[in-house]
Amino acid sequence: MPNQTDTQRLVDLVSNSSFPESLRILRTEFSSPVFTTSFSLEDQIILHAIASERLPVRVATLDTGRLFEETYQLHARSISLYGIPIESYFPNAEAVQALVARQGPNGFYDGVEHRLACCRVRKVEPLGRALKGADLWITGIRREHSPERQDLQIVEWDADHGVHKFHPLLATTWDEARDYAREHAVPISPLHARGFLSIGCAPCTRAVEPGEPARAGRWWWENSEKKECGLHLKNMRFVRKGSDS
Ligand code: SF4
Repeated sequence: MPNQTDTQRLVDLVSNSSFPESLRILRTEFSSPVFTTSFSLEDQIILHAIASERLPVRVATLDTGRLFEETYQLHARSISLYGIPIESYFPNAEAVQALVARQGPNGFYDGVEHRLACCRVRKVEPLGRALKGADLWITGIRREHSPERQDLQIVEWDADHGVHKFHPLLATTWDEARDYAREHAVPISPLHARGFLSIGCAPCTRAVEPGEPARAGRWWWENSEKKECGLHLKNMRFVRKGSDS
């Protein structure tokens, strides 16, 4: 199993490869890869490649309990279309009860700390369980998503989870991703056509206007340009005070 010192070798291995090829190549380097999907455009493309190539990759999703109905519909459709299991990781019920007792069902609107507390319970803790036993974490992150994602490498070491992270679509543009989905008949969320370029929990996501960054629609009531939920913070080299990562 590669360790932290192998990161540059892994980057070199895939840096000149197409996206499906890079998945194939890196898959052989690891024994327990996991792909986490939120059923975004990017994630649907990766899911399609994993299923088409029959790659032995575990697929997991974080069901926060606050997702769009369209996301659940796409989840169900993806299972029936691709015929591969998608593991759902739910927040700890007692932690959600305590959170809602403390800050109400929609407390995330009351400040960044409240919002991060909700993301910590509904996303960050379940992610730890989803990654348990994994040595490679495959994500749908693209550089275009936000300024904080500009400096990422296609393969990185995630010291928090003790895994390598692999972003096979890091350099892919939105148009390229959309065209790939069309060409390969990949089912995508109908929300994208309504301006939701980045889709998260329903109460925390709005459509963006033409020209707005994809993640402008996430936690739109916050002023911070560094909008993350804690799943990927450390790799982006900033840490919000009291953040969940
Ligand atoms: Fe909670 Fe919103 Fe974070 Fe979802 S995105 S976990 S609803 S704060």
